Amino acid sequence: MAKYVFYFSQKKSEGDSRMKELLGGKGANLAQMAKLGLPVPPGFTISTEVCTYFYENNHCYPESLEKQVKEAVAEIEKEKNAKFGDPGNPLIFSIRSGARSSMPGMMDTVLNLGLNDEVVKKLAEKNPRFTWNSYWRFLFMFGEVVMGAKKEELDGILEAIKKEKGFEKDTDLSSQDWQETAERLKTKIKRLTGKEISQDPWEQLWEAISAVFKSWDTPRAITYRRLNKIPDDWGTAVNVQSMVFGNLDDNSASGVGFTRNPSTGDKKLYGEFLPKAQGEDVVAGIRTPQQIEELKEIFPDCYQELLKISETLENHFKDMQDIEFTIESKKLWMLQTRTGKRTIQAAVKTALDMVKEGLISKKEAILRINANSIEGFFRPSFDLKEKKEVLAKGLAASPGAAVGEVVFDPAEAVELVDKGHKVILVRMETSPDDIHGIAVAEGILTARGGYTSHAALVTRGMGKPGIVGCEAIYVDYKKEQFQVGEKIIKKGEKISINGTSGEVFQGELSTQPPKISGDLEQILEWADEIKKLGVYANADTPQQASQAKDFGAEGIGLCRTEHMFFGEERISTFQQMILANNKKDREKVLEKILPLQKSDFLEIFKTMGNSPVIIRLLDPPLHEFLPQKDEDLKNLSEKSGIPFEELRNRAENLKEINPMLGHRGVRLGITFPEIYEMQTKAIMEAACELSIKNGIKVFPEIMIPLTLDLEEFKIVKNSIKNICEDIKNKFKANLNYKIGTMIELPRAALTADDLASEAEFFSFGTNDLTQTTLGISRDDAGRFLPKYIELKIFKDDPFLVLDEKGVGELIKMGKEKGKSARPALEVGICGEHGGDPQSIEFFHKIGLNYVSCSPFRVPVARMAAAQAALKHEGKI
Ligand code: PEP
Ligand code: MG
Repeated sequence: MAKYVFYFSQKKSEGDSRMKELLGGKGANLAQMAKLGLPVPPGFTISTEVCTYFYENNHCYPESLEKQVKEAVAEIEKEKNAKFGDPGNPLIFSIRSGARSSMPGMMDTVLNLGLNDEVVKKLAEKNPRFTWNSYWRFLFMFGEVVMGAKKEELDGILEAIKKEKGFEKDTDLSSQDWQETAERLKTKIKRLTGKEISQDPWEQLWEAISAVFKSWDTPRAITYRRLNKIPDDWGTAVNVQSMVFGNLDDNSASGVGFTRNPSTGDKKLYGEFLPKAQGEDVVAGIRTPQQIEELKEIFPDCYQELLKISETLENHFKDMQDIEFTIESKKLWMLQTRTGKRTIQAAVKTALDMVKEGLISKKEAILRINANSIEGFFRPSFDLKEKKEVLAKGLAASPGAAVGEVVFDPAEAVELVDKGHKVILVRMETSPDDIHGIAVAEGILTARGGYTSHAALVTRGMGKPGIVGCEAIYVDYKKEQFQVGEKIIKKGEKISINGTSGEVFQGELSTQPPKISGDLEQILEWADEIKKLGVYANADTPQQASQAKDFGAEGIGLCRTEHMFFGEERISTFQQMILANNKKDREKVLEKILPLQKSDFLEIFKTMGNSPVIIRLLDPPLHEFLPQKDEDLKNLSEKSGIPFEELRNRAENLKEINPMLGHRGVRLGITFPEIYEMQTKAIMEAACELSIKNGIKVFPEIMIPLTLDLEEFKIVKNSIKNICEDIKNKFKANLNYKIGTMIELPRAALTADDLASEAEFFSFGTNDLTQTTLGISRDDAGRFLPKYIELKIFKDDPFLVLDEKGVGELIKMGKEKGKSARPALEVGICGEHGGDPQSIEFFHKIGLNYVSCSPFRVPVARMAAAQAALKHEGKI
């Protein structure tokens, strides 16, 4: 007979913490606590296999379940010396869900089950207030969870009675008041559902078990699973446990706690409790709980025992625990333990401390950190205790919290910030024209765009919160407002955006400032000792380069030279260059650009010292850089002296139907060689000057973007190589440089052996390679990709987490073909995936040399690279 029911008590425990798949997290840990001899009220767990059976068999149970449950109840009756349904000496149960990984508050619970009119009558003779309070709670939970009454409707009764009697707190209610509340509640449940609550405890038990299983399939549980990537087929277990009552008398209490401080990681029991209350009261915040230290005074023995138990639990689980306990007439009972959720700051501190305490190894400490969360060290966050309604949700493009006045115009953003305001720039999308506004804004919200859209790249690069592709909002620039459904938010109104979750809120949420500690540095040093991948940064300006270095970047993997022209003054020079009518005019503008580029390169090289700096020659998708509005064209006309009409015509002529696949990348180098020649000059002159004057051994690597063919590459390479050699000779500099290519098109990956015969290094541009392999526009993906993820066509957004099956295969093949032609070929990646832990694991597995990501992701990548190395130790 298959075993579906697993008993646990201090006397006998049939499970342990390794059995989470079968018993769920709560059940497995209750069994483990019992096994460790801790005071756990006797109970049993109905396994997740029953949940699977329940859903596969039209909400029926396996045949032997009833017998197994009955036997377990009989065993508890024996241990507790009480009887289920016996009015004189009743056994009372709690029924709780418990999936493999915790889904807090998503599924249902019923407490005080086994109470009925008869039992209550008898019990009330001894302790009426406790009895009627407990019955009220049972009716409430059973009415909501099992009978389907709406919580809001049931809530009203207690509130009404408190109002009628002028009470503020629940503790003001007398036993008669609780009796009245319970009786009114019972009548209301009947009116709402048309049914009476069963008086038969066994019927109650089975109905409650079914309700808990059914709560696995409620919309909120499904949504939670989707958001947290919990598979639907795991199912939940059900825990039936004898009740202990924190509301029994003045010597009783309920509490929750953490074995260490979950915010800071400090090694000190942390938590709160409520005297004379059930656990639900603590969580629901009905009364303000007391700090756990106060237990020391009120229940000193229980406090000491709790400290000892915390230690036992940490020694066993080797991690910080989140616990629930009840004190019933001065006796401490443990109701739950699980791994405690914590801030990234606390996670790092706890991991370091536990290594020092000898609980875990350095490797375990590294594997324990959620690499993605490391960015949290550098960004402010919202105070999560504050609950606010979400106004709209977009793609979480760049993490962190920002609050500010809504502004739609970048120039106005600058004006307001100059006057001391804090602003959030809200746009349909952003372009380089908006950069001055983006630079001063606290955060950016756009209605369109995906994870690699302009706004996403720029906010991530600048390390400021950004939400993109927030399709629910409509921006009306004319009316200076944006709309979400019926709601209108006007310019100047405050909003809060959470770039970590993609949520937009109306009004002002309070933020917590970033805390950077030496702990992070310590754990990252350990990570560096382990990782095999190099971690470089995508940095376009000297400031970004210096930031990247501070964060531990070993080089620059991508310097996007067109980004060096973001900035009000520079962008117009750049636009003049794009819009030049002929070679002569273009060369004139290029002469103006050369010193600007050179001075930037000088600074970047100086900052990076002897570390490699990979500079990509110009790759502007023209639509991102062309002036869009007449107003911008007018400005440009004033600056350049070219008549407005003429400029407009030229801009019109340059417009492309499909600019992402148009006149960009190396194609620009082929058609306008003078641009790349100028850039090469700027790079080499800066490098030679520094080598000679400052003795810095600069190692520039010049990278050609969007290459698709060997001949194409050769033409450009030869032209820039000649310039490099000329400058080297002119300076008599002894300097190494390389000329390589990005691999951003499937054809480039397919012919990588050809390309490697000339290219001295490869860098996979996975943003474009994803765009071109999937045939999905990186700028328009936000419109339909969420549906693809909802329908599970894609597990993740392929612009965020590498599509290993498709794009990954091309990278693997491209790398192998490249190395077959040139064994010493250096191969890296510089798309956004370079900062994504899951993708980094893949890059480690296929043996790339380095990943390159935005400066703020560098610590994330260092940690993820070490984790990948540990997970695949000895496998490459
Ligand atoms: C890429 O395509 O992956 C890349 C790094 O280049 P960009 O994002 O500038 O197109
Ligand atoms: Mg690209």
